Amino acid sequence: MALKNDCFALPPGIEWTPVPEALARLRERVEPVTAIETLALADALGRVLARDAVAMRSTPPHDNAAVDGYAVAHASLTREGEQTLILAEGRAAAGSPFDGVVPAGHTVRTLTGAVMPEGTDSVVMQEDVSHGGDGAISFGSGLKPGANRRKAGEDIEEGSIAIRAGCRLSAADLAQAASVGVASLAVHRPLRVAVFSTGDELCDPHETPGRGGIFDANRPMLIGLARAQGFEVVDLGRIPDEASAIRAALTDAAAQADAVVTSGGASGGDEDHIGRELTRLGAMAEWRIAMKPGRPLAMGQIGSVPVFGLPGNPVAAFVCFLMFARPALLRLGGADWPELPRFPVTITGPAKKRAGRTEYLRGRYAGDGKVEKFRSEGSGLISGLRWSDGLIELSHNRDRVEAGETVDYIPYSAFGL
Ligand code: AMP
Ligand code: MG
Repeated sequence: MALKNDCFALPPGIEWTPVPEALARLRERVEPVTAIETLALADALGRVLARDAVAMRSTPPHDNAAVDGYAVAHASLTREGEQTLILAEGRAAAGSPFDGVVPAGHTVRTLTGAVMPEGTDSVVMQEDVSHGGDGAISFGSGLKPGANRRKAGEDIEEGSIAIRAGCRLSAADLAQAASVGVASLAVHRPLRVAVFSTGDELCDPHETPGRGGIFDANRPMLIGLARAQGFEVVDLGRIPDEASAIRAALTDAAAQADAVVTSGGASGGDEDHIGRELTRLGAMAEWRIAMKPGRPLAMGQIGSVPVFGLPGNPVAAFVCFLMFARPALLRLGGADWPELPRFPVTITGPAKKRAGRTEYLRGRYAGDGKVEKFRSEGSGLISGLRWSDGLIELSHNRDRVEAGETVDYIPYSAFGL
C-alpha cells in the first residue's frame, strides 16, 4: 500500500497546532505499507503481527491440578470434622494421566499439571495432609469446591483470537501463541527507515572537528531509537548544509527506505534546506506544532515515502521522534497506533510554562508518586536525557507550574525504551 501524496498537507491558515490535534491528524493519515511474511514463532520477537493469531486449542487444554497433593471429589467430603480418604493405587502426573476412575471414598496422588483424574474435581495440598499407616490420608474440613484446579480454557478458548493483528510481539505474546498451538505467524517485514543528519558543523566522533565543529550525536541516538522500535535502519551518514547534497540525500533515502528521518536544518533559516528541498521534491508540510522542545517539524513526502525532518537540537530531536515520528512509523510498519500511558504524579519543583503549547521536561521518578525535573531545560543537554527516565508532559492550556502540582508523566518504557 502507498500513502496518498498529500498525506501530510495541512488545512490552509493553520498556525500552531496543539499536540493532541496534530497527533490525531497524523493518525488519520498513516497506514501500513510493509509486506507480510510468515515466520516461525522463535523468529518473530519484535515483529508486528499482520493477521490475528487464532487459538488452535484451548489453554489449558484440560482441567488440571494447580498444586502437588491429592485429588478428591468435593461432593463426597463432609461439611465438618476430619476427612479421611483411602489412597487409590497409581498417580496422576503432568504428562501421565491417572488411568481409570477414582472410586467414592478414595483419593489419588496428583502432581501439578496433571489432568484431573476422572471422578475428582478438587485438590488437597500435600502440606495439608497427614498419612495414616493404613494407606489412608486425613485433612481438615473447609476445602472449597474446585480448589487448586485449573479449568480448561481459563486462559484462552479454542477458536478465539489469542493475539490481534497490529500487536508488536513480545516474549509474552510468543508464549501465548505457543500455548495455543500456533507454530508460525504472519508478520510485517520490518519497516526500513533511512536516517541522516544535516549540518556543516558535524563530524563523526572518530574525526577531528574543524573550527566550530561538533560531533554528530543525533545519528546514533535516532538510529538507536528506531532500532528499539524494531525498524531496520539504513544509515546515510551526515549531509552538509547544501541544497544539492540534501536533495540527493533525500532522493537516495526515499529510494532505499519506507520512511526517512533526518535531523537539523528543518526550520526556516538560511541554512535550513530540508523543508525547501522537500517542497521541490514532493509534498511538504511544515507542521507548526505547539510544543516545546521542537521548532517546526518538516513533514513531507517523496513519492509515497514519508519524511520526518526533526529539529537539530538533540533533546528536541529525541522528543519529536518519540512523540511524532514513532507512532507514525510504527503504524507504517503495521502496528496499531500506540497510545501512551500518562501517569499523574507530583512535580517536586516549579516549572516555567507558557499557556498555548504542550511542553516536555525531562523527568525522573523519585518514588512515592513524585517526579523531579532535570536541572535545566537546555535543548542541547544530552546528559539530561540520560539522567531522566521519562517525560513530564505539561498540557497545552497550563501556565506556570508550582512544586506539588499534579502533572502527567510518561516513562520511557512506554516508548519501548
Ligand atoms: P538546526 O536544527 O540545524 O538549526 O540545529 C540546531 C542545533 O542543534 C545547532 O546547535 C546544531 O549544531 C545542533 N545539531 C544539529 N544537528 C546535530 C547533531 N546531529 N548532533 C548534535 N547536535 C546537532
Ligand atoms: Mg543545522
